[in-house]
Amino acid sequence: MNYKDYIRIIPDFPQPGIKFKDITTLTNNGPVYASAIEAIRQAVSDKQIDLVAGPEARGFIIGAPLAISLGAGFVPIRKSGKLPGEVVEASYDLEYGKDKLAIHKDAIKPGQRVLIADDLLATGGTIATTINLIRQLGGEVVGSAFLIELGYLDGRSKIDGIDVFSLMTY
Ligand code: IMP
Repeated sequence: MNYKDYIRIIPDFPQPGIKFKDITTLTNNGPVYASAIEAIRQAVSDKQIDLVAGPEARGFIIGAPLAISLGAGFVPIRKSGKLPGEVVEASYDLEYGKDKLAIHKDAIKPGQRVLIADDLLATGGTIATTINLIRQLGGEVVGSAFLIELGYLDGRSKIDGIDVFSLMTY
């Protein structure tokens, strides 16, 4: 399947000069969405994953169905101020802007094997911060999986030593 046929590119969103990769034109097609999640599941199936962690908000769209297909739990990584329980937080830079992410302190037990999932790897800032949060709780990051990788931004270099699987590369 050529998944790129289902990605819509929107120029100048959310800022001038950004070519936004819109995944909603893939996820609104049931068979294509299911096929994409299944392709990611196959790529990570040997990793003995206990938990999938996904950053708000599009990480939920990929991470939650992936977790169910793996028989793993799902841990939401949220923007600061959204989670109701005790959290640990970390700040980071985005491709366009700055933000702070949080995780529930008891979301991961030490030694649990965690896969990170998101829609898109750009500069790697979001994922590097997610790795930082998971490690603060004693989780073992066993890999990362994305629908899309923007290869020209070299996000991989920020998460050196962690397996990266991406279904599409631009
Ligand atoms: P990074 O932190 O620079 O790797 O940016 C990745 C984060 O920004 C992900 O959580 C994406 O959802 C979001 N993002 C950046 N660019 C795009 C895009 O073109 N389409 C969809 N999401 C994007």
